[in-house]
Amino acid sequence: MLMRISAAGPAADPIAVLQAIVSEHGEAMVAKFYETLMRDADAAQFLSNDAVHGRLSTSLLDWLRSLLDVEAIQDSPALQEKQRVVGQVHARIKIPIHVVMEGAIILKKQIFEHLRARDDEGALEVAQLADERIDRAIMLMSQAYVKDTTDGARLDEAYRLFSLDQDLTSEKEAQRASLLAWSQKSLFALLRGEALEKVSESEFGFWIRHRAEFMFQNSAQLRDLLAEIETIDTTLLPQLAATPARNTDLLASLQVAIDRVGFLVSELFQTLSAMEVGRDPLTRALNRRFLPAILGREVTYANSHQTPLSIMLIDVDRFKAINDTLGHQTGDVVLRQVAQVIMDNVRPSDFVFRYGGEEFLIVSAETPLEEAHGIAERIRESVAAQPYDVAQGTPLRVTASIGLAAHSGHPDQSYFIKAADDALYRAKANGRNRIEIAG
Ligand code: GH3
Ligand code: MG
Ligand code: MG
Repeated sequence: MLMRISAAGPAADPIAVLQAIVSEHGEAMVAKFYETLMRDADAAQFLSNDAVHGRLSTSLLDWLRSLLDVEAIQDSPALQEKQRVVGQVHARIKIPIHVVMEGAIILKKQIFEHLRARDDEGALEVAQLADERIDRAIMLMSQAYVKDTTDGARLDEAYRLFSLDQDLTSEKEAQRASLLAWSQKSLFALLRGEALEKVSESEFGFWIRHRAEFMFQNSAQLRDLLAEIETIDTTLLPQLAATPARNTDLLASLQVAIDRVGFLVSELFQTLSAMEVGRDPLTRALNRRFLPAILGREVTYANSHQTPLSIMLIDVDRFKAINDTLGHQTGDVVLRQVAQVIMDNVRPSDFVFRYGGEEFLIVSAETPLEEAHGIAERIRESVAAQPYDVAQGTPLRVTASIGLAAHSGHPDQSYFIKAADDALYRAKANGRNRIEIAG
């Protein structure tokens, strides 16, 4: 049997002391924590939301209690995992680590003050225990935070690529215009009997060599494109130059070759934006992996600029039955058309994600709920009214249910998505082919 002996007599069990302090003063400690942090501008922006305030008090107290359990954090994988989850939440809503540490200091300081007031034997041991447990928890949170922030940076990189998609459209147009400029210049040169410039020596040719070969690496279209340019430069142009009179057959061949080059340029950009920039190949909606980066940005923007932000979740009704009766391939056709209907009815600034198999999520920045509701209604009606490309005579009724949510100011985007998801669930429960609004 083990007995604790000390010169000053038996000390109280440190865990019991801490538990007593928290059960007696826990609520006041949490209130103080909140009040102190609200004075810090960095912290206040995360705490001022009502939903955060309400939940924080309870969850902070629970957290403190769980740390002061008989089982130490280093012996409890479940408790360790909880700290990691908290760290991930902090990373998602971008609470800086120093704010979390400041929170820990506030809590420790209060525990120490209560200990001092109690003037117990063995107070130092108790203080050391509280200190170690809180520090270990913060350490695990920070570890998860850093990992998640790094992953987030990778997502931001993906988002940057996605933004590049927007620039690609103008780059494509610029290059098609540059090809057109070359062909007109060549035509004039031919008419005047002047020397012809090779495609590969034109501005367009420079672009192919320096940008396209890098952008499109060794794609099949690029190889076709290079072969086409080679034919123009080494066969057609020398033949045209060698023919003193205007040779209409040769000119027609040149025109065909130029058209083909233009077509291949468009194709190249298409594959780049679809494959590499992460649109879903079936529906052309944005890949879900961009959602955290994009929605995170929009939530931060809405909070800092006080602008409205709405999202909606759209789920095709009884889609399984469509697959079951018409086959998966026809299901794909219907799905692609539904996606097209959605994209035709949103505004250019809206983001359309493929959220799940037959689920889409739309992020509408600077859009109040009423306006988003108008968009949702348009989508719902169009999905139901749209004729679908299925075998003639097949009766097909396609409808969708929509859950709509306005941003509440809560910095964690998962709350926002959950709100839309709950509304969608109600739309299904209330009979489908309808819109429900969160809250
Ligand atoms: P509810 O009205 O409750 O949404 O009914 P539902 O049948 O649409 O819902 P459920 O989630 O049970 O079924 C969704 C189906 O969508 C199941 C899956 O086979 C199908 N699906 C998911 N992705 C695809 C896809 O890419 N192509 C096709 N053809 N079907 C898909
Ligand atoms: Mg579904
Ligand atoms: Mg469905």
